[in-house]
Formats: sequence, C-alpha cells, structure tokens
Amino acid sequence: MNLLDGKHVSAKIRENIKQESATFLASTGRRPHLVAILVGNDGASETYVASKMRNCELVGFESTNIHYDVDISEEALLAKIDELNADPTVDGLIVQLPLPKHINPERVTEAIDHRKDVDGFHPVNLGRMQRNLPCFIPATPYGIMLMLEYYGIDTAGMHAVVVGRSNIVGSPMSILLARNSNPGNCTVTLTHSRTKDIENEVRRADIVVAAIGKKHFITADMVKDGAIVIDVGINREVSDETKSGYRLYGDVDFEQVAPKASWITPVPGGVGLMTIVGLLKNTLEAAKHSIYK
Ligand code: NDP
Repeated sequence: MNLLDGKHVSAKIRENIKQESATFLASTGRRPHLVAILVGNDGASETYVASKMRNCELVGFESTNIHYDVDISEEALLAKIDELNADPTVDGLIVQLPLPKHINPERVTEAIDHRKDVDGFHPVNLGRMQRNLPCFIPATPYGIMLMLEYYGIDTAGMHAVVVGRSNIVGSPMSILLARNSNPGNCTVTLTHSRTKDIENEVRRADIVVAAIGKKHFITADMVKDGAIVIDVGINREVSDETKSGYRLYGDVDFEQVAPKASWITPVPGGVGLMTIVGLLKNTLEAAKHSIYK
C-alpha cells in the first residue's frame, strides 16, 4: 500500500503557488485576492472558511472574509455579489455552502461572475470543463486530479467508480476521470443512493472515489485487491480525546481497506488539503487572467 499523502503534495504545490504569487506582486504591485462570503454560524463552514483564509495568507494572497448573519436576505446577498463582481481588486469570489433555506443556492452560484468563480460551480465553468476547455475546476476534484498527477499515476483504461453525485464533488469528478486527458481516460461508473447493488459496482473498480458523507461506508470486502482508493468524506464526531473536541472520519474504513489498496488517501491528511490547493491555484489563475482574458 502506498499513501497518497495530501500533506506532502499540498506543501509542494503551495510552495510553487507562493513563488508565483510573489512574481505576481512584483509585476503588478498587488496580491491575488480571494473574497469568501459566509452566511450564518455553521461550525464546519466557519472552520473551512478560516482554513481557506489562513492558506491564502500562507501563499502571500490577500483574503477577505465577509460574514453575514443567518437572516440576510437573498436580495442583499446578490447585491453584494454584484458589487464584488465589479471590483477589479477582487480576483476570486466564493460563497460558502450550504446556505440558509431562504436563499436559493443556484441563484447565488449563477450570480457570481464566472471569471471570478474559483469554486468552479458556475454553469459556464461546468460546461467548459465537460468540453475539456480551460475553466475553473471545482476545488476538490481538481485537488484529486493534481494528486494523481503528482504521483504519476496513469489512469488510462481504468474503471473508475465514483460514489456520490453532488455538484461539487461526485459529478465533476466523474467528468474529469472520463475526459480525454491524463489523469483521465477512465471508464466511469457514477453511483448514488438509488444505485442497485452498490457493493458490486465498487468491487469492480480500479479506482474508487468515495464522496458520500457516511463514516466508513466503504469496507474492505467492497474493494478489489490493488485498487486506488480516494476518500473525500469528512465526517465529524464529537470526541473528548482531541483538542478541537471532535474527530474526523472518512467515508472509507482506512484501517481495513488500506492493506488491499495500491494507493489510498488518509483522512485527515488527504483530499481535504488538496481541496485548498485547488482553490489557491484557481485564485492565482483568476488573478493572472490566464483562463479568461
Ligand atoms: P452530498 O450530501 O451533497 O452528496 C452525497 C452523495 O452521496 C449524494 O449523491 C448521495 O446520493 C450519495 N449517497 C448518500 N447515501 C448513499 C448511499 N447509502 N449509497 C450510495 N450513495 C449515497 O455530499 P458532498 O458531495 O458535498 O460531500 C460528500 C462528503 O465529502 C461529505 O462527507 C463532505 O463533508 C465531504 N467533502 C469533503 C471535501 C474535502 O475537501 N475533503 C470537500 C467537499 C465535501 P443522492 O444524490 O442519491 O442523494
């Protein structure tokens, strides 16, 4: 078993981004700038946004966190997005999901200028991704692809099984793995809660991507010998054994599955760190106007 070590890979890529960020500052007199909007007081969302902001600082980006009360109106949120779209000092703009029920996430996603949509959720970016055109790729699938690329894993011809079809992880992951590029060129099966006999589908996989949100859903008996196992899941459980007061578990039963896998990501220390790198890379590209002129 080999570890797909998110800590190691993310540190390497962050170092490159830091150098490019310094070059950008030297040539333009300003830093790449990411703005994150957070609505409400969801603990996990606050942690994610804080981590994104901290990582921006680590690579020399400017970062702004705009935090609204849970009762902000959709209209007011959309007005702020318009203002930030028009602000030339803002390169990347993200709105942390989930949003409170009275705000339509589709409307918010589409309101963000696709040239600043460094989360890659806007339909323009999703459409361009599907057509293999330059675009912002959603950070988690992007991070996973960067990790496969870093380890030189040739996925051509493999059968990939993606578990979970969300707009932010499973669905874009299935598109990327099927694209005619490297990594990619897989034959992809996209599974979800309505899939019949999911165990059998996963058992056929050369690569499994688990993005379900259920602790240890993928067990050893579901994984083929030598499979590559990518665990996206972040399941928080209260624990009095950790400083933070909670413990993170993946969607994969790591202890049991690792001995069978050829490559596997740990949780924590795997995909989560690569997601941040995906976001930082997108923000840098947005600042450099290298995707949209
Ligand atoms: P969603 O809840 O949006 O999607 C979950 C998907 O899993 C859905 O497609 C759902 O199917 C499917 N699913 C749920 N139960 C089953 C089941 N019993 N059998 C088969 N499929 C099932 O989650 P996300 O994609 O946003 O996130 C998934 C996990 O990844 C979460 O733990 C999340 O915290 C984590 N995550 C981690 C990130 C990272 O950086 N590491 C980034 C983003 C998410 P259906 O569509 O039919 O409902």
